[in-house]
Amino acid sequence: MSFLLINNIHHTYFSKSSATTALENINLAINEGEFISFIGPSGCGKTTLLSIIAGLLQPTKGDVLLKDTKVTAAAHTIGYMLQQDYLFPWRTIEENILLGLKLNHKLCERTKEKAIQLLQEIGLEGTEKLYPRQLSGGMRQRAALVRTLVTDPQIFLLDEPFSALDFQTKLKLEDLVSNTLKEYKKTTLLVTHDIGEAIAMSDRIILLNANPGRISETFVIPNTLSKLPPFNARQHPIYADLFQKVWKELDKLDISNKI
Ligand code: ADP
Ligand code: MG
Repeated sequence: MSFLLINNIHHTYFSKSSATTALENINLAINEGEFISFIGPSGCGKTTLLSIIAGLLQPTKGDVLLKDTKVTAAAHTIGYMLQQDYLFPWRTIEENILLGLKLNHKLCERTKEKAIQLLQEIGLEGTEKLYPRQLSGGMRQRAALVRTLVTDPQIFLLDEPFSALDFQTKLKLEDLVSNTLKEYKKTTLLVTHDIGEAIAMSDRIILLNANPGRISETFVIPNTLSKLPPFNARQHPIYADLFQKVWKELDKLDISNKI
């Protein structure tokens, strides 16, 4: 039994005058605790796939099974983190990070304490009473991570969560997120357009091609690299070779996409 099974997913968006097939024949078995990255040209269906896995979008065909059970958005088993942090500007950081718990009816003294502790672990001690606008972009993304983590989701979906940040902040956050997710043994699916980020953070990289989105290639990251924190992985000698390999394949797809 796979932890997460993506089973023959097809998805077509219909409008009055057209039909766009975003995904075709997507099959994937993911182990518990695995970190998977999806890369591919713009429009290849990455966001569509994450929405389907989250149970927010019903695929035209196929299903997603989490431990043999169909995923639904109502089950709250999925944590979704996006490029924008979506913190509520009129609520304090503490109110924001407790919101998920409140909505899931899981807010009590114990879970609140855990949330505050996580906030400290992630380096945001003392920000509890501040508002999002008083924090930097990187700090807000960390707060959004805490908000997602405290609801204890079984799967983490990250859709380009670092792409709006400056490079230095992004590198630091990659390490922090990677360590935190490893510590809590979370299964994670990351969408990124940064090949380096995919190599440094993942156990496996899935390359999708566009029109329609299909799995083009899978790269398994050697254990010597995947066990390292992302920052150190980026310095490892085999990182550069892998980068070239993935780059070449992605470039082929980008070119055929434009012709
Ligand atoms: P990616 O995240 O890889 O850039 P998306 O999943 O956003 O790709 O989109 C995949 C394809 O589906 C694209 O061709 C896009 O134009 C189309 N698409 C996405 N969302 C919708 C929608 N709500 N209605 C119609 N077409 C859509
Ligand atoms: Mg997208």
